[in-house]
Amino acid sequence: MFNYVPEMFRAETAETEEEGDKWYDDHTAGRRPPELLPRDEVARAINTEVKAGRGSPHGGVFLDIASRRTPEYIRRRLPSMYHQFMELAGVDITRESMEIGPTCHYIMGGVQVIADSAATAVPGLFAAGEAAGGLHGANRLGGNSLSDLVVFGRRAGMGAAEYIEAGDVATSFNMEEAEAAVKGALDPLNREEGENPYTIQHDLQEMMQALVGIIRTGPELEEAKDKLDEFTERVKNISVKGARAYNPGWNLATDLPSMLTVSRSTALAASLRKESRGGHTREDYPNPDPEFAKFNFALSSDGGNWDSPISAAQSPLLPLPDELKALLEEAH
Ligand SMILES: Cc1cc2nc3c(=O)[nH]c(=O)nc-3n(C[C@H](O)[C@H](O)[C@H](O)COP(=O)(O)OP(=O)(O)OC[C@H]3O[C@@H](n4cnc5c(N)ncnc54)[C@H](O)[C@@H]3O)c2cc1C
Repeated sequence: MFNYVPEMFRAETAETEEEGDKWYDDHTAGRRPPELLPRDEVARAINTEVKAGRGSPHGGVFLDIASRRTPEYIRRRLPSMYHQFMELAGVDITRESMEIGPTCHYIMGGVQVIADSAATAVPGLFAAGEAAGGLHGANRLGGNSLSDLVVFGRRAGMGAAEYIEAGDVATSFNMEEAEAAVKGALDPLNREEGENPYTIQHDLQEMMQALVGIIRTGPELEEAKDKLDEFTERVKNISVKGARAYNPGWNLATDLPSMLTVSRSTALAASLRKESRGGHTREDYPNPDPEFAKFNFALSSDGGNWDSPISAAQSPLLPLPDELKALLEEAH
C-alpha cells in the first residue's frame, strides 16, 4: 500500500512500515499506515494489483492482522469477522491472512419514480427501496438504506392506496402479451438442448466484476457492452431440467433477462458518465465534472422487451432547496 498513497493523504500517512506499526500502539508516535486509507483508495490499489497479475489465488489480495495483533485482541475487537472467516472459509484470522477484494454492495441506480408517491412510469406500478433509483445520489451514506425503506416504503403504500381509491385502475389487459410472457417463462423448461442458467449467471458475474466493477475505463466498458450482446443470445438458449415446482434453476432462468437489463443499463450509463463521482470511478476521467452534476441518465427500453435496445437521455436534477444548500455549506 506504500506505493498507493495519493498526494492528498501523504502528510497524514506513515512513510515506512515501522512508522505505521508504531501508530497501532500509540496514535501520537507515528502516522496511520496506508492500508487504512479511504475505501476507494484501497479498492483502487487492490484493483491495480489484481489486474497486474499480482492478486491472491481467488482474485483478491491478502489482508493480514495476525502479524500485528494478538489472537485475544483480534477475537475481542473483531468477533464477527473472526467467526465469519472461521465458519464460512475455515480461515483462522488470528493465525493466517484473509483473502479480500472489493465488491458491489449497493446499487444507486434503479427504477425512476416520483418521489412523493413512488409511482413509476407504468400506471399502477410502484417501486421503493433499492429497486428505486435517484435518492442516494452518487454514493449512499452508511445506514441510509434503512431510512430509505421506511420512508419510501410508506409513501409507495400510500401512493398505491390512493391510486386504487381514485378508481383509475386498468380493468382489462392484453391477453396476447400475457400469453407471450408465459411462453417466454416456460421456454427454458421446454427446450431439450441449451445452456445451464448457473453457468451464464457465473460468467455474467465474472465479466461484470472484471469490466464494469468499481474502477472503470472506456475501452473496458465498450468490451463489456459487446460481451453483454453475447450474453443476450446465450440467455435466449437456456435449458432447464425438472418441473415448475421448487425449481431454483428455472427461477434463475426467469431472473436472468432482468439481470441482463440491469447489467446493460449499468454498462451504458457508466460509459456515458465520463467523470468520477461517488461510487463511480473512471480511471480515464479521474475527477468529478461539474457539468455531469446537473443531470442523471434516464434509460429506457426502445422496444419494451428485455432484449430491446436501451437508450439514454439526460434527466435534469432539481436544484437543491436553499435550506439544504445552507446545511451543506455549513458542513464544509
Ligand atoms: C453486506 C451488506 C451490508 C449492508 N449494510 C447495511 C447497513 O448497515 N445499513 C443500511 O441501511 N443498509 C445496509 N445495506 C443495504 C440494505 O441491506 C439494502 O439496501 C436493503 O436491504 C434493500 O432492501 P429492499 O427491500 O429494497 O430489497 P431487498 O432486501 O433486496 O428485498 C427484495 C426482495 O425481493 C425478493 N425478490 C426478488 N425477485 C423476486 C421475484 N421475482 N418474486 C418475488 N420476490 C422476489 C428477494 O428475494 C428479496 O427478498 C447492506 C447491504 C449489504 C449487501
